[in-house]
Amino acid sequence: MSFMSLFDVTADAMLVVDDFDYIIQANPVARQMLGYSVNQIMGLAIEAVIPTRSRMQHSNNAYVAYTKRPEQRANANADSVIALTITGQELVINMDLSILTISLPLVNSKSGSLSHSHQKSFALLTLHTVDRRRRAEEALLISEDRFRLAKSAAGLGVFDFSITSKTMHCDERMCELWGLPNNQDMTYAQYLAGIHPEDRPSRETALNLASNPNNKGEYQTEYRLINSANHTVHWILSIGKIFFVDGVASRCIGVVQDITERKLLEKNLQRQRIEMESLALEQVAAQTASAIAHEINQPLAAISAYSEVALRNIAIGKGNISQLTTTLERCVTQSQRAGKSLHELLAFLQKGEIVTEAINLNTLVKQAVNSSKNEVTGEFKCALYLEPNLPPVLGNKMQVQKVVINLVRNAVEAMRGSDTSDLSISVKVNKMETLKMAQVTVQDSGPGLKHETKKRIFDPFFTTKSSGIGMGLAVSRALIEANGGQLWLDQEPSAHNNVGAKFHFTLPFAS
Ligand code: ADP
Repeated sequence: MSFMSLFDVTADAMLVVDDFDYIIQANPVARQMLGYSVNQIMGLAIEAVIPTRSRMQHSNNAYVAYTKRPEQRANANADSVIALTITGQELVINMDLSILTISLPLVNSKSGSLSHSHQKSFALLTLHTVDRRRRAEEALLISEDRFRLAKSAAGLGVFDFSITSKTMHCDERMCELWGLPNNQDMTYAQYLAGIHPEDRPSRETALNLASNPNNKGEYQTEYRLINSANHTVHWILSIGKIFFVDGVASRCIGVVQDITERKLLEKNLQRQRIEMESLALEQVAAQTASAIAHEINQPLAAISAYSEVALRNIAIGKGNISQLTTTLERCVTQSQRAGKSLHELLAFLQKGEIVTEAINLNTLVKQAVNSSKNEVTGEFKCALYLEPNLPPVLGNKMQVQKVVINLVRNAVEAMRGSDTSDLSISVKVNKMETLKMAQVTVQDSGPGLKHETKKRIFDPFFTTKSSGIGMGLAVSRALIEANGGQLWLDQEPSAHNNVGAKFHFTLPFAS
């Protein structure tokens, strides 16, 4: 096989350069690497491909030594130089330089016959791209650096355990965690001995699962570690991967991390959560109890008052059977009311289904105001403004009635607690056609609410009354919302000398 046919098929890029630094041959790989066609590269000065500055750096000037001082000709290998492509792109390449000596026949100019051969030397340049390899090496170095940094930042210990030979290689951090001198490799027995006996079974289970070749071999487990030097206990997170040879687990590589602080934090958070939950439960219990107390307070007070009247009349021999019967009937009505009311409230608190029906709000409001007159102590005047042609609203009769009574009672109590001599309230029913809602407004002529009070009136247990429970408005708002409406305090100053409070609530039309 001739030199040229080898030259053309070789996998390396090759250039042949003559004494005058001109390229006289370039194989296809070299032409492809540098982007030249045959015609373009033949006779091209080597300077265009490998500039002098780059050639000078090559193996202590071996190229120059070759070209300019033939007596010192030497081969020079694998040094990096910069090669330029036809577009001027710089390639970092390794360049091997070797001497190619060719015998050329001399032609007798007179006779035309061939005489002794004449020896001529050329430089054979072999170019290998190193960019990719170098980049890969650099990337490897960077990733090793990153791994080292991450390892030390996360305090990771690394181990490599040969399952077949039961030998183990650990880094310094592992030895430190286990409390062993870091100049010796930990044995598997020492490794196991460090793990808290109570946590060994769960670790075993995780490893056994990962050792099944059908799984990916990855595992993650947490255990307590007893440091053999100072006997302190640390929580360890261990993440590893098992490698298989012919379906048999042969090697396990992994990292361990001290997670004691995280565990403590988790424990504290869990304790706080439990405390919060029990506090929330206590609050719910207290709110429920208060709501119940709120519901039965009034009927109990009424029953007590009726009973006292009846007893007093019996004691002084006054009153007849029919009067006594009426008083006792009132007691019965009140206790039945309280029972029913309690039942509804409990159902509501337990988030049971609310029984709703189409209600004539005008009638309901009228009835509720009348009931208030019986339930609220003392006289008061009430102006009712009902809405003619009001469509029925959807809601639970008993609950809506309770809300109206609460608002009226609050209004009367507020007026009674002030200097107001005229205890009068107004209750209005309006139609909000576009919203498909009805609105009820209860307004009084009492002292109104101070700015700070306004912000808190819907808070459970907030009360300014000596005998108040502070659940009336909280329960009323919850009831209205459960019925699909809203309840709020009007923030607009009253037209009458800034006095009086105005509460509104809405309910959706039934249709
Ligand atoms: P309670 O009536 O047991 O105090 P509520 O939740 O019904 O509980 O009311 C909370 C507080 O809101 C009352 O203590 C009172 O200070 C204020 N409040 C409610 N309604 C009125 C009103 N119409 N005028 C002035 N203050 C009111």
